Amino acid sequence: MVRNHGKFRPSEHTTDRPDLLARVFNLNLKSLMDDPTVHGALGKSIAQVYTIEFQKRGLAHAHILIVLRATDKFSTSEHIDKFVRGEIPSPIENRRLHEIVTKCLKHGPCGIDNPETLCMEAGQCKKMFPKECRTETTMNVSVYPFVSQMPK
Ligand SMILES: [Zn+2]
Repeated sequence: MVRNHGKFRPSEHTTDRPDLLARVFNLNLKSLMDDPTVHGALGKSIAQVYTIEFQKRGLAHAHILIVLRATDKFSTSEHIDKFVRGEIPSPIENRRLHEIVTKCLKHGPCGIDNPETLCMEAGQCKKMFPKECRTETTMNVSVYPFVSQMPK
């Protein structure tokens, strides 16, 4: 069997080339990790750990934990809002990105309209979706902050 290393053939799909996907994913992950860990984009990083997961329905993804020096930790909602926000791209300004985000990155649909989905238990979504859209982040003592999400 002759392999076409490093290139997709016209008839191939991304699922046919996990070798290429893994290489591209690793390059992107390294680049992503360099900003906070090497360049200090969030402050001084004193520890970091990540796990990479591969799921049947999607591409690889990473769960990343970065521990910042005490003086750089995010302690206010304004500090969080400087770095984190959720936003669905405009279908008018970038239709392709809007389609990718709404197809691959949104939870659901679940709830009353789709009670048979796996996330549903006793008539409610176990992941607590849908979540309220917020214009500002709210800090909480016992749970994750409610990060602002701007609908488009
Ligand atoms: Zn759900």
